[in-house]
This record gives sequence, structure tokens and C-alpha cells, in this order.
Amino acid sequence: MNQLSRRQFLKSSGLGVAALGAMQVPVFGQARRRVIVIGGGWGGATAAKYVRLTDPSIEVTLLEPNKEFISCPFSNLVLAGVESLKNLTLNYDGLRRHGVKIRHEAAAAIEPDKKRVRVGRDSLEYDRLIVSPGIDFQWEQVEGLAAAKDTVLHAWKAGPQTVQLAKQLQSMADGGVVVMTVPPVAYRCPPGPYERASMIGWYLKTKKPKSKLIVLDANKDIVSKTGLFKAVFKDYAANLDYRPSQKVEKIDVGAKEVTADTGDKVKYQVVNVIPPQRAGAIAVEADLVGGDKRWCEVDHVTYESVKQKNIHVVGDATIGLPVPKSGNVANAMGKICATAVVSLLNGKEPQQIAPGNTCYSWVSDKEAIAVVNAYRIDKGKVVQIEQKLTPGKSTAVAENSLSWRTSIWNDILG
Ligand SMILES: Cc1cc2nc3c(=O)[nH]c(=O)nc-3n(C[C@H](O)[C@H](O)[C@H](O)COP(=O)(O)OP(=O)(O)OC[C@H]3O[C@@H](n4cnc5c(N)ncnc54)[C@H](O)[C@@H]3O)c2cc1C
Repeated sequence: MNQLSRRQFLKSSGLGVAALGAMQVPVFGQARRRVIVIGGGWGGATAAKYVRLTDPSIEVTLLEPNKEFISCPFSNLVLAGVESLKNLTLNYDGLRRHGVKIRHEAAAAIEPDKKRVRVGRDSLEYDRLIVSPGIDFQWEQVEGLAAAKDTVLHAWKAGPQTVQLAKQLQSMADGGVVVMTVPPVAYRCPPGPYERASMIGWYLKTKKPKSKLIVLDANKDIVSKTGLFKAVFKDYAANLDYRPSQKVEKIDVGAKEVTADTGDKVKYQVVNVIPPQRAGAIAVEADLVGGDKRWCEVDHVTYESVKQKNIHVVGDATIGLPVPKSGNVANAMGKICATAVVSLLNGKEPQQIAPGNTCYSWVSDKEAIAVVNAYRIDKGKVVQIEQKLTPGKSTAVAENSLSWRTSIWNDILG
């Protein structure tokens, strides 16, 4: 990609031409700098691509066990039969065209002192490491869940479980009870469980009207887009029973029953437990997490870990910024972190760039709601400056979300 098209690309991707200041041309005789990226999801794939775009002289290796990228955004629509997982599945060919070296293997360990990542039998050296491993689950927080984790579906990492849960809903007899549990904050995608509840509510109302979805929410109220989701839930009131302050504590798969911390017991025909979460295991094992042992604190400008030098963390694994754990934010962090890493490798001061967030939630087969958040950097910290919600559900917002997904997927992988 030549200089002009890179400029156009950065501009159209939302990062803006400000990032061009960090852009480098290869310097003859300079030692090859190496960046390793762990995780080829929304944050990591973006970061890998943008390091290469910003400075093609840097060698970038991406470690990602999955051969395909499957989008969690829009996966709730698969559960209601209005979208297919195939349409949410993309490949990594675009990253290869940018010169990213991809190894479809998991990073086994990070050795910060030696600036190395262990992969299989290899030890790969880096000058800077970018870690975007997403989330893992705290199975132990729900009694009985660890033993049943292959059959009690979370479908919170889009893939085979998404299809399995859709099949369970389809094969449930009309009159059945579906139980879905929402974990306490912080978790991946604050509005995601309520989008899921809306889509299952719509599905039951239109296809299995005698059935019911019971939502047991560990939180005191709907965590995101609260008023908008409350209005949607009213439309599905005959099929959707939302119960706040009900943290699931136990699951008994034999009795097909979940127990909340209030002592309430609920029987189900289909269950969807979204377990409590923490940063992906590799971040925990490398001691990138803070005192909570769950999430990684980072510098708000460079995304460098506050615990380990030369290691940057982006995406859902981070904590401390006033931003949701969303794909849109992970993508923005990936770009900002990439340009910061290039600046640091070239001995330059990183630019102060804040992320942005637009988050759509579908609530029926044709309608969606949305929130937009704007941020800026103030004294080295990301602060929110504005939040705007759509007035209500609409088909226009749903259509906008389809344009959003085309452009952001292209920004990550194209
Ligand atoms: C149902 C649902 C709906 C959602 N809807 C939206 C939405 O509408 N809009 C939105 O913006 N966001 C949405 N999200 C949130 C979004 O999916 C996440 O915020 C986003 O995926 C986070 O990006 P990430 O890079 O942190 O993690 P991921 O995208 O999960 O990527 C992490 C990657 O790291 C890899 N990995 C993990 N460990 C290792 C290792 N040791 N070595 C190598 N690779 C490793 C994994 O295989 C994975 O591919 C939704 C999420 C869900 C579950």
C-alpha cells in the first residue's frame, strides 16, 4: 500500500490523519524490530495490521490458534435464526497481504525478562509485545459449572456453541422455559446479554408463544442502554421475565435447575449461563493482571502494561479506562496501540489519541438500538466527554449496524 492510500485508509478507518505522524519509512541498515501480537480477534488483528501499515520495516508475528475470525457482534442474531454464523466468519488473508506473519498456534507463555514468547517448542523474541487475548471464564464461581462446562452453553465466544444454543432453542417444545444468567460487571460487552434476551424474547414471541425466557441478572439493573432495553422488554413481557439482583450460584444439570444467591430456584428446559469473566488466561499467567487477579491495567496513551515493560494490552482484557469491553473499542485500542508502539520503537513521543465507541444492539429481526460514546485524553487519562442514545428501536439503526460491521471488519482484516 503506498503512502497516499495508507493516508486514505487511516482517515476512513476513524483513526484520523493524526496517526500519520507516527508513520515511518524503513531506514537502511536499521536492525529489524520485532513486534509479536497475541490474539487475532478485534484488538489483536487490528494492532498487527496497523503496525505493518504504520511502519512496514517492523516484523509482525501474530499468534492466533483459530484459522478463522468469528465475530461475536451479531452472533445473538444467530440464536434467533435471523443470521448465520457463516456470514460472521472471516479469514486472515488480508493480514497476510499486509505482511503479517501468522502462526495459528496459542502462545504458551510470556517471559517478560527475556522479552520472549513461548510457542510450541519455539521461543520468539520481541522488542514490543501486544497482548489481546480477550476473556476467559471463572467457572469456579458457579457451583456445578466446571464439571458441566461442555454441556451448559455460554455462547459468549462466537463459534460452535452459538450454533448449538440456537439448535437447543429451536428443538425446545413450545411451553418450555429458557433460563439465561447475566454475570456481575465487569464482563465482555455490557449490552450483549440484554441484546440476547431481546432476540430470544422476539423468537419466543413469534415462534413459540407459550414459552418463557427467565433472565437472572447478577446486577441490580440492566447494565447498558437501560431505558431502551426496558421498553423492549415490555414488548416481550408475555415471554420475557427479567429478574435483577439474582446472581446464579449453582447449577444442577441432573435436576435442570439453577439456584440464585437469593435462594430462588428455577427449573429450565434450555439454559444459557454466561459465566463471570476475567482476562484471557495468558494475561493472568504472565502476571499482567492487577490486584483483582482478573483484568490488566494499562497506560491510557500507549496501552503499555503498568506491571510489565514492553508489553502492551488491548481489548477486553484491559480495565481502568471508562470504556465498555466492546469490539469497537478493542479495534480503536488496537490502532492507537499500534501507532504508539511504532513511535516508541522509533524513539518518538506517542501521540495522545482517545478511542471512540458506537455500539448497536438488535432487539428483533429488523430493529436495533444504539449508543455512541466520545472520549478525549485529559492529563494522560481517557475521559468520557459525551454519550448519545438513539430515541428508540428502529429499522434505520439496524441498517446502520450492517454498514458498521462491513466497514469495521474491513478495518480489522481487510
Ligand atoms: C454476544 C456478543 C455480542 C457482542 N456484540 C458486540 C457489538 O455489537 N459491538 C461491539 O463492539 N462489541 C460486541 N461484542 C464484544 C466484542 O466481541 C469484544 O469486545 C471483542 O471481541 C474484544 O476483542 P478482543 O481482541 O479483546 O478479544 P477477542 O476478539 O475475543 O480476541 C481474542 C483472541 O485471542 C485469542 N487468544 C486467546 N489466548 C491466546 C493465546 N494464548 N495465544 C494466542 N491467541 C490467543 C483467541 O483465540 C481470540 O481469537 C459482543 C460480544 C458478545 C459475546
